[in-house]
Amino acid sequence: MLNYLSNIPNCLNAMLFKEEITPQFAQELFNDSEKVLKFVAEVKWRDGFTCRNCGHTNYCEGKTPWSRRCTRCKKEESATANTIFHNIKFPVNKAFFIAYNVCVLGNEFSSYNYSDQLGLNQMTCWKFRKRIQDCMLKIRTDEKSKIQTILMSEYK
Ligand SMILES: [Zn+2]
Repeated sequence: MLNYLSNIPNCLNAMLFKEEITPQFAQELFNDSEKVLKFVAEVKWRDGFTCRNCGHTNYCEGKTPWSRRCTRCKKEESATANTIFHNIKFPVNKAFFIAYNVCVLGNEFSSYNYSDQLGLNQMTCWKFRKRIQDCMLKIRTDEKSKIQTILMSEYK
C-alpha cells in the first residue's frame, strides 16, 4: 500500500502542496461544491486512507461525493468530516469562499459582506468566519499561509 502511494507521480503532490491555490482554480471551487469536496478529499487523504474507526487502509467509494467507506468495518467518512468544514449546514463551496478569503487573501470582509455576496444568513457567515479565525490562531506561524493546513484543522 505504501509503496503504491509513493509511486504516484509527484505532480499530484505538487498540485496539492502548492502554497497558493491559483485564482482560476479558486474561482472554479467557488462555483462547484463537488470540486471543493474532491479537493478536500485529495488533501485529506494525500498520504492514503486510514479508517478512523478501525485503522484499516482499504476503502471503496462512499454514498456521498468523494466520501470513502472502510472495506472492513463499513464505516463511511465524508470528505469534510473532521476538517474545517465538519458539519456545516450550508454549501461547502460557499464555505470555501469564506475560507479562501480569510486565509489566502487576508480579506477583512465582515459577516455582512459574506451574507450579501453568498446569500447566506449573517450569523452563519459570522460563525464560520470565526471558526476559520480560531483555527488560524491555533496553527503555528510558519504554517499560516497554507490554506490546506487550515482546511484540515479539526473543529468540533
Ligand atoms: Zn474501518
